[in-house]
Amino acid sequence: MAIDPNDLKAFTKLPFPSVRTRKHVFEGGYAILTVMQVRGGFEGNLGCTILEMNKPVFEHAGSMGEGCEKLERRFREIMPDHQCGSGCFGDWQPDSSIFKEPTGRTQ
Ligand SMILES: [Zn+2]
Repeated sequence: MAIDPNDLKAFTKLPFPSVRTRKHVFEGGYAILTVMQVRGGFEGNLGCTILEMNKPVFEHAGSMGEGCEKLERRFREIMPDHQCGSGCFGDWQPDSSIFKEPTGRTQ
């Protein structure tokens, strides 16, 4: 069976899954919030350095906005007094830029 080049083209044009990430930095650690589009909805994951590694926080949501909201709420349960500082990403980032090290300003 020959491969239809049009099928192949359609396959390679598939978009990357929708991902939103947010980062909170606080004294003694940080938290990474990630919401990803999955089959049948959206899945949120909260990774936090002050949580035990074997206790990841997962949330399932029907939309990207709902997933972001749920995760942010979970983070506030863990760190109710957190105030975003310069190390935080105050807004949800549309791609993996959050994982890059801050480059700072060059003179
Ligand atoms: Zn923050």
